Amino acid sequence: MIRTGIGFDIHRLAEGRKLVLGGVTIPHPVGLEGHSDADAVCHALMDALLGAVAAGDIGQHFPNTDPRWKNADSLEMLAIVAGLVRARGYEIANTDAMVMAEAPRLAPHIGLMRERLAAAMGIQPDQVSVKAGTHEKLGAIGRGEGIGALATAALYRLENRRM
Ligand code: MG
Repeated sequence: MIRTGIGFDIHRLAEGRKLVLGGVTIPHPVGLEGHSDADAVCHALMDALLGAVAAGDIGQHFPNTDPRWKNADSLEMLAIVAGLVRARGYEIANTDAMVMAEAPRLAPHIGLMRERLAAAMGIQPDQVSVKAGTHEKLGAIGRGEGIGALATAALYRLENRRM
């Protein structure tokens, strides 16, 4: 049994916020605004995992009105979602994420992001892909107003395991 899911997230960049992407704090004059740490990569991955088991979305599981998730570490939220997937009898085969950011250059941080995301999901870094690109100065992301992320996840369930 194989299932796949897709997720997307976008956050506005603002002064006085840390920039956290894929669980890595990246030196930058502005950071992402949000209720949690606003890690768009983690959030897109969470929605991909939830989508793969048809378990709703991040907003249902982590309401932004809940003080528990105020400034929350999104890696912890991602770990909770990975646990939910396993509780339903599925294992994560692989995930893939595409970060859309005009700046900063993310290439030097991709390796650490893959390690931290893999650890949070209980899988190996070679099962976790993170890619990054700009929007060629087009639109809101291209003007540097925000950073977005797309993600997919593939899950599998062994035949002899029950939901
Ligand atoms: Mg988000």
